[in-house]
Amino acid sequence: MARIGFIGLGNMGGPMVRNLIKAGHSLSVFDLSEEAVNFAVQSGALAAKSVPEAASGVDFVVTMLPVGANVKEVFLNNGIIAAADPETVMIDSSTIDVETAQAAHAASKAAGFDMIDAPVSGGVTGADAGTLTFMCGGDKKSFEKAKPILEAMGKNIVHCGAAGLGQVTKICNNMLAGINALAAAEAMVMGERLGVSRETLYNVISTSTGNSLYFENFNPMPGVCSSSAANNNFKPGFMAKLMLKDLRLSQAAAQSASTATPLGATATAAFQHLVENGFGDLDTTSIIKLIDPNVK
Ligand code: NAD
Repeated sequence: MARIGFIGLGNMGGPMVRNLIKAGHSLSVFDLSEEAVNFAVQSGALAAKSVPEAASGVDFVVTMLPVGANVKEVFLNNGIIAAADPETVMIDSSTIDVETAQAAHAASKAAGFDMIDAPVSGGVTGADAGTLTFMCGGDKKSFEKAKPILEAMGKNIVHCGAAGLGQVTKICNNMLAGINALAAAEAMVMGERLGVSRETLYNVISTSTGNSLYFENFNPMPGVCSSSAANNNFKPGFMAKLMLKDLRLSQAAAQSASTATPLGATATAAFQHLVENGFGDLDTTSIIKLIDPNVK
């Protein structure tokens, strides 16, 4: 069994740590939030006092942080690379920009470490159940070393290509998820206003050509599917401000690829409006409040 340093114990990192412990690994954990650390300690992790402490004396370092600036800070400025033992394998599961991911790869490689970028899909439910999809970028040797660790947290572990291409895959996925969330909200509100019950809309569309995984499992209309955060007062789940972050990443990526993404641009503008209106800490499904502010 492996020794793992885990940094970032939020909505996703917390349950991922619990699954690694369940699989028999020993965990040294750090987060800026003392509460998050205490929670992981209750599951059997050892608390580290700093990023370098969590990253030293371990076989793998896993990071699960909000944005690229956090990853840059802990990898480059705050000591993972300086503190880690030789042979440590770096796994960054945060969803971040391709440029920062590639910079972390380059710095790891220059210091002699294997690294993969391994962002995830599946949300908090998937993190809890250990059924996440990992989209991995990096060389095949690093991927094979990291795979057994990822298998304790996920079901589909996919090598997407070279350094940064896990992030590219994730950004494409989340651009679609953001578009689908907005599209589902538009259709549900319009159909109900024109007189069809929300239950009928859900039952028919979720078995018709308008369906999407988002429509079926995370429908933004309250009361139609039990797995949606819309049924829990839009408590996250996946915060709208993180979806906005990912949509912005998609727009930066589209620009660098000279690709037109008109629907991605519309979804980005919609989520920006939602966040500016104070809903950023609610789940992504709260996008329906932009279409119908009084939805219940
Ligand atoms: P979160 O905000 O719940 O957790 C992030 C944690 O990182 C927090 O506990 C924070 O204190 C900690 N942190 C921030 N900077 C730190 C630092 N310098 N050192 C140590 N700890 C630090 O976020 P989350 O929902 O767990 O998401 C994490 C990443 O996973 C994001 O990139 C997000 O886009 C991605 N993601 C989230 C979901 C989801 O459903 N929540 C799904 C897929 C991917």
